[in-house]
This record gives sequence, structure tokens and C-alpha cells, in this order.
Amino acid sequence: NPAGRLAACAHEPCLPDLSALGFETTDLDDLPITAGESGANAQLEAFAPRLDDYATRRDYPALAGPSYLSVHLRFGTLSIRRAARLAWSAMSAGEGGGAETWMNELIWRDFYFQILFHFPHVTHSAFRAEMDAVAWEDDETAFQAWCEGRTGYPLVDAAMRQLLHSGYMHNRLRMVTASFLTKDLGIDWRRGEAWFARHLNDFDLAANNGGWQWAASTGCDAQPYFRIFNPVTQSTKFDPRGRFIRRYVPEVARLGDKDIHAPWTLDAEKLSHAGIVLGQTYPAPIVDHAQARKLTLARFEAART
Ligand code: FAD
Repeated sequence: NPAGRLAACAHEPCLPDLSALGFETTDLDDLPITAGESGANAQLEAFAPRLDDYATRRDYPALAGPSYLSVHLRFGTLSIRRAARLAWSAMSAGEGGGAETWMNELIWRDFYFQILFHFPHVTHSAFRAEMDAVAWEDDETAFQAWCEGRTGYPLVDAAMRQLLHSGYMHNRLRMVTASFLTKDLGIDWRRGEAWFARHLNDFDLAANNGGWQWAASTGCDAQPYFRIFNPVTQSTKFDPRGRFIRRYVPEVARLGDKDIHAPWTLDAEKLSHAGIVLGQTYPAPIVDHAQARKLTLARFEAART
């Protein structure tokens, strides 16, 4: 349901108060999501010609690379068999590598269902028991800054604002923001998992838990703890011209393509030319990545001994 219609429906006598059920209105107009089975079919058809390019485009949040079908898969308005059939027939026809890569993503979804079913303890603790010994930070101010997209790292902030604005976040950015929370801020993955659960329209317990435990290095087949995303490198690599950042962080929009990824490294003249006063119009970074990296390595090494 588009947000407006959802709000209007809430006043119909046949529907309960949706906010009491835990639903919040978000701006679905931000993404071309059409509701119901017909909407799912239309989106699948729109995605089919892009399937070939999926492998090369899926990591760039400014491009229409992924399918945006997660909300339909989550609510059952699209059958997983239908999605898999599309990938399978393209693979059988030998069409590029996009279909195979997309099929692998559909398999991750199933994989996390299996993990949740066979290892239900993951809902409250680490898949790998030794990782429950990690001593997380208790920093409420940093957590709030992350939630609200005020960390001072433009790509992280753009992603967190996309979530609040649209109820969706691009997959690459889910990995970047989850890594930032757990490895740069040292905050417990369960807090981030709960925030995503509250705001994602495609929230799915198995996939969300699996994604968070992957990023936090506590999960099954997870990112090793010593592989820590650098939020600036991720930004220059996956949003090289800052197009996605500009969409959600207008405060830094006037910076050039190269400068937009790390405003705190710029001289006063460049900042003032772009109308930025660090700490006033846009936050200074709430954490130093190089220092945070060292702390994270120590945190995980201590847990493993
Ligand atoms: P596409 O790239 O087009 O992928 C097609 C479908 O495959 C998706 O719709 C989804 O059903 C499935 N899929 C893709 N990647 C994954 C994955 N890594 N794990 C499981 N399934 C996958 N996905 C959810 O559906 N709900 C969640 O609550 C959720 N939370 C996540 C939290 C974190 C921290 C991370 C790293 C990932 C999470 N994902 C979640 C997985 C992934 O980010 C989304 O499925 C994807 O971004 C949805 O966009 P799309 O439909 O355009 O994906």
C-alpha cells in the first residue's frame, strides 16, 4: 500500500488501527513499488530485461541494479518459484552471468530460512557461541546518530536516511551500515537488527538476522572479523560520483564527486565554497575509522582467547 492509501485505510471501520499493530507509514513513492500480486508481476517483468546486467550493476545504489522484489517475496505477493524460474530459464538459455548471480541471492534467502529453522538460538545469540563473549560498547549517543543518519560519513548517513524515508535499503548499504555499527561503533548487532526490523518493509527475521550476523562476524559463513569495511573506500567504490549520497544528504550535495565521500578531509575553502560548516550544517565524523578498526580487532581477539 502506498503510504497515503495506508493512512486512509486506517480510518475505514473494517481495518484495525495499523499503528497499534506496529506498522508505520513510510514514503513508498520513493521507490516504484506497486502493491499486490499484479504489482509483483509488473515489477518482475520490469526486472527481467535487467537480469543480464544484475551482476555488474547490483552493487551501485544509484543505479536500478537489483530487482526491488524483496517486499513481494516477504509478503508472498510473488512466489519464490516464479522468481527462481525466471533465473533458471535465463541460465538455461546461457544469457550472461546476471541470472546465476541473482539465483545465488535467492539461495541466500533459503539458506537463512534453514539456519533459523535448525539453529533457532540465532534469534537472541550468536550463531557461533564463542562470539557471544564479544564485549560490545554501550554508546547511546553514537547509536542514535547511526539511526538518524548523523554519523558524519555521507554514505552511511545516506543509507540510514533511505531506510527511514522509504522503508528500503540497498543490499550493499545494509552491509556497509551494519559493518559501521558493529565494527566502527562497536555496538551490539542485535540493536541494529532491531532497528532494521522496525523500519524495513521487507523485514524478514531469517534474512535480517542472517545479514546482521554475517556483517558482525558472529554468524554462519560470516565475514571474518578482521575484514572490516572502510566506509570511505566503500563510498568511492560504489557511489563514485556521489549520486546516491546527494539524493539523501543535501547538506553535502554541493561538494565535488571526489570530495563528497569524506568532507572532514577538505580544507576550509572547499568546505565554505560548498556551504558546509562541519559540526553545524553537517556532523564531523563521530568516530575515526583507523582507531575504531584497531579497537574492533582487539575486541574480537579478546573474545576468542
Ligand atoms: P535482489 O538483489 O534483487 O535479490 C533478490 C532477492 O533475493 C531479494 O528480494 C531477497 O529475497 C533475496 N536476497 C538477496 N540477497 C539476500 C541476502 N543476502 N540474504 C537473504 N536473502 C537475500 N532481506 C530481506 O528480504 N529482509 C530483510 O529483513 C533483510 N535484512 C538484511 C539485513 C542486513 C544487515 C543485510 C546485509 C541484508 C539483509 N537482507 C534482507 C538481504 C538483502 O539486503 C535484501 O534481500 C535485498 O537488499 C533486497 O533488495 P532486492 O529485492 O532488490 O534484492
